[in-house]
Amino acid sequence: MTHADFDAVSVHEPTGPGLPLVCDSPHSGERYPDDFGAAATLAQLRQGEDTHVDALWSAAPALGATLIAANFPRVYIDPNRTLQDLDPELLAQPWPEPLDPGEKTRLGKGLIWRRMDRSTPIYDRKLTLAEVRHRIQAYYEPYHAALSQAIQQVRQRFGAVWHLNLHSMPNDAYERLGRKSEHPLADFVLGDRDGTTCEPEFIALIETALRGKGYTVARNDPYKGVQLIAQIGQPALNRHSLQVEIRRPLYMDEATRERNAGFAPLQADLSDVLAQVAAYVRARQAALA
Ligand SMILES: [Zn+2]
Repeated sequence: MTHADFDAVSVHEPTGPGLPLVCDSPHSGERYPDDFGAAATLAQLRQGEDTHVDALWSAAPALGATLIAANFPRVYIDPNRTLQDLDPELLAQPWPEPLDPGEKTRLGKGLIWRRMDRSTPIYDRKLTLAEVRHRIQAYYEPYHAALSQAIQQVRQRFGAVWHLNLHSMPNDAYERLGRKSEHPLADFVLGDRDGTTCEPEFIALIETALRGKGYTVARNDPYKGVQLIAQIGQPALNRHSLQVEIRRPLYMDEATRERNAGFAPLQADLSDVLAQVAAYVRARQAALA
């Protein structure tokens, strides 16, 4: 058996009548396991966190949604990657199963991150197969088990699910991705993998709600969504999944990770947006029943 240093995942169940709405925050974890063994500093590692995202959406359970959050940091192991998306350069020995590292993994940001940026490697050593397996079994798999259990429970009860996959993004997202953009990064980036992971009315509702609060909103630029929404979002089966990215300076100081004066008003706006999402889900579910 392999154990985490702490609860790998927090599950906040609906506090009132439930809705077929599940929210998950895979990157807001701030607890660093003792066996991380990183050479990079904590301040450097924390640049990978979507710090406070779970708190921004904390109204979800009171509105009938399940809210799931990772407590471990994504640079330790990223729940939003497949298990095959592992970088062989990290490992002291060859991985015994076939790997399929993607483009981001070659840049050092796969299942287990290799570097924060070009000049900041995370380790001064290779990882053993045993420690990678421990990260998978004690952290990654419990996160996926909690999320898939919530999705399955909702689908069994209601026959449908709407899922929000919650993130935040650095202000210099385009630069970090090595892309040029003619316009500044939007306040919110909604990702549905180019219209494939949810019904169009769902993304339109959230875009309209956010614009109504005065925010700029882009779709799939520069983030389309990765593993979790690709796996969960199958609109033909009444499974609707959407990624929401928030520009970090709206709510925190990117250097210190402390909440700024924008946090409370943003949280209030998101609670209102969530209430609109809940009303939409309730109406859609009633139409299906
Ligand atoms: Zn994220």
